[in-house]
Amino acid sequence: MNFKDLSLEEIIKKINSKETTREEVFEYFIKRIDKYDSKLQAFNFVNYEWLNKKDWILSWIPLAIKDIFCEIWVPTTSSSKILTDFKPPYNATVIENLLKEWASSLWKVAMDEFAMWSTTESSAFKKPFNPWWNNRIPGGSSGWSATAVASWLAPAALWTDTGWSIRQPASMCNIVWFKPSYWRNSRFWVMAMASSLDCPWTLTKTVKDSALLYDVMNWYDPKENTSLPWKDLINPEIWNKKDLKWYKIWVPKEYFEEGLDEWVRNRIEEAIMKLQELWAEIKEVSLPMTKYAIATYYIIMPAEVSTNLSRYDGLRFWHNSTEDYNSMDELFINNRYEWFWDEAKRRIVLWSYVLSAWFYDAYFKKATQIRTLIIDDFNKAFEEVDAIVSPVSPNVAWKAWEKINDPVKMYLSDAYTIPASLAWLPGISVPAWFAESEDEEKEMLPVWLHILTPRLKEERLFEIAYVYEQATKFAEKIAPWFDN
Ligand code: GLN
Repeated sequence: MNFKDLSLEEIIKKINSKETTREEVFEYFIKRIDKYDSKLQAFNFVNYEWLNKKDWILSWIPLAIKDIFCEIWVPTTSSSKILTDFKPPYNATVIENLLKEWASSLWKVAMDEFAMWSTTESSAFKKPFNPWWNNRIPGGSSGWSATAVASWLAPAALWTDTGWSIRQPASMCNIVWFKPSYWRNSRFWVMAMASSLDCPWTLTKTVKDSALLYDVMNWYDPKENTSLPWKDLINPEIWNKKDLKWYKIWVPKEYFEEGLDEWVRNRIEEAIMKLQELWAEIKEVSLPMTKYAIATYYIIMPAEVSTNLSRYDGLRFWHNSTEDYNSMDELFINNRYEWFWDEAKRRIVLWSYVLSAWFYDAYFKKATQIRTLIIDDFNKAFEEVDAIVSPVSPNVAWKAWEKINDPVKMYLSDAYTIPASLAWLPGISVPAWFAESEDEEKEMLPVWLHILTPRLKEERLFEIAYVYEQATKFAEKIAPWFDN
C-alpha cells in the first residue's frame, strides 16, 4: 500500500479497519528512508532494530524525532560533535507518552547544533536541504524534522521550538506547525537550550493530525515542575465547523512594517482576506512592545544557553579527545574549543557576560522586565480579541550558506515568532500560498500565516486553522524534488 498521500489520521484509520497492518506502515517508511536518505541526509540515526522486535504494540506509527529528545540507549547528539557517542540512560517523557499510546520513536533527524541557528547549517553531521529547492535552507533548528515530513520519510515529526525553530522550517517546507502553551508538556530529558522558552511538540501534514498528537502528548509530568496537572482534550465537534463567524481576529501593524518582503506581505494579506471571506471580523491592532522582542530574546535566550551548555565539558557526556592539558580548566577549554561549532562558542562567551555580576542588572534583568511588558501587550489585546495573525517569517527560504557569516541578519528573521515564545502563547501556522524568492532565481516558495490565541486556548487555534485549511487546501501541494 502507498501511504505517501495519507495523513496520520488516515493511516491510523486504515490500521484500525484492518486495511493495513502496523508492520506494513513501518516497513513502508523504512524503505522510503533507505531509498531517499542517501540524497537527503536527514537522519543522524535510524533504529533498524525495531524491525526485529516482536512486540509491535510499541510500533504503530514511526515518527521522525529531532536528535534532541533522549531515548534510552539510542544515540542522541543534538547534532553536536561533543555528544558524538552519547547514549542517554533515560527516555524523555514526551517520547514515553507517545510510546505508551501508539507511536514508535525510532529515527533521529539532524538539526542545528543544540537547536541554535536558523538554517540547519550548524549541524555537525548533515547539510541543509529544502525539498522545494534543494539549494535553499529548510529553516532551522528543526530543519530536518520538516524536510523528513515534507518528503514523506515520516508521517509526522517531533521537534522543539525555542524562538522560531519549527515555525520557520514548517513554513519553508510547507507543512503544519503547532505549539501549545509552554506548560502543556514536559521538557524532562529533552536537551535544554533555553529552558524558559523551549517547547517540544509536533509537525504534521494536516491540522487534524496536530490535534491528534496534541491529545496524546499533553500530559502532566511529576518530574517537570512547569507542567500542568491536568490533561486537555480537543472537542471533536470543532471539525464540523465551516466558517469563522463571530471570531475577532486582529492583525498587529508592527508585523507589517520595515523588513517584510513585499511578496510575503501580499500573500499574507490575501490569506487575511480569506479569513474575512470565512466571516471572521478582522481589525488592525498595535502591539507596541514588538520592536523590543528581538533584543529581549537575544539576551534571555543565549544567557540561558550559556548556562545550559556549561554541562558539556567533554568528560561528563563524553567526547574527550585531548591528552594535552595541565589542568581541568584547560581540558574543558580544549574540548569545548574543538567540539562546539562557532555559534555555541559565541553564545557561551558573549552571553556569560550579560549574566556576570557587573552587567546582570543592565542586561539580563532589564530583558526580563521587558519580557513582562511584551506579555502585557498580548494580554491586553486578548481581552478584546480571539486570535492574532501575522506572517511567520519576513522572507521565504534563502539560499544555503548565504547568511552563514552574518548572525545578526539571521537573528532578525525571527522577528515575528519570538514575541509569542517570550509570552508562552500557543500558536499554529497554516499555508498562505507561494511567493517568489527575492534573489535573481525568482523561485516559488511557500509562505505561511502564523495564528496565536491566548494561553491554554489551543482548541480555538485548531478550530480557526482547520476552517482555513479546509477552505484553501494549500498544504496539499507536494514538494517538487522527488517522486510525486
Ligand atoms: N533562531 C533561533 C536561535 O538561533 C532559533 C532557536 C530555536 O527555536 N531553536 O536561537
